[in-house]
Amino acid sequence: APAVQVRELIYRYPDGRLALRGVDLTIVPGETIALVGPNGAGKSTLLLHLNGILPGKERGQPLHAHGTSQHSRNGSSAPAVWIDGLEVNAKNAPEVRRRVGLVFQDPDDQLFSTSVIEDVAFGPLNLGKSRAEAKRIALECLARVNLDDVADRAPHHLSFGERKRVCLAGVLACNPSVLVLDEPTANLDPRGRRRFIELIRGLTATKLIATHDLEMVLELCNRTVLLDSGRIVANGLTRNVLGDP
Ligand code: ADP
Ligand code: ADP
Repeated sequence: APAVQVRELIYRYPDGRLALRGVDLTIVPGETIALVGPNGAGKSTLLLHLNGILPGKERGQPLHAHGTSQHSRNGSSAPAVWIDGLEVNAKNAPEVRRRVGLVFQDPDDQLFSTSVIEDVAFGPLNLGKSRAEAKRIALECLARVNLDDVADRAPHHLSFGERKRVCLAGVLACNPSVLVLDEPTANLDPRGRRRFIELIRGLTATKLIATHDLEMVLELCNRTVLLDSGRIVANGLTRNVLGDP
């Protein structure tokens, strides 16, 4: 099965705004894909559908923060998103969240615990791991993002780049098969950006990266999907979609 399959996805926000106007997208396992397009194109809305934060087909409330489960899916609406062949719906939501890791643009939308280690251990604990095992996994993931030394600190005392990496560690702790990154390099300084790109490059999961950072796209993404006004207007090899830089 494809890692990600999106079919005729339409989404209307509760205020009436049509954010996705029929999106079709297939991502094969192991692929790293860029999602580009102007502000308001629907990139974030599409990303939120991949782990079931937004329920499909013109229904539902937009939600932020993980751990939420307020689905208001209309039983009669057709399925529109599959992860590893598993339909994204209310019933499958816990399993979908386990498989899809979402790293928000703003780490402060994602971090909620009083210590870094607690934040990173949240996912494994939620998946039923023991306290000791969750802590072991959290420390291992903090090491993977080069943050072993901040486990006991408060997330809000860390720098932006560090908070960003704590979020990545928290997502990796759930061992997702699909990693969704929203503007991973935004607001990082050149050094932090370079280091974050290298971290992303080293991850083996299937990756979908929404970004305005075309240099990173050329570096990391074989394929690029261009979204505009809720529709995919180009989908192909990065060098063809972006043109010769
Ligand atoms: P992008 O991530 O590409 O900037 P978004 O997915 O954020 O695009 O937005 C797509 C469209 O949906 C835009 O027209 C935006 O104004 C609208 N939109 C985004 N979030 C909400 C919301 N919570 N309520 C209503 N409309 C929204
Ligand atoms: P900010 O951009 O908010 O200042 P950074 O994460 O870039 O935060 O920097 C915080 C500290 O961590 C700096 O000392 C930086 O050199 C270091 N650092 C940043 N990214 C990495 C990384 N991937 N591996 C190791 N050290 C890093």
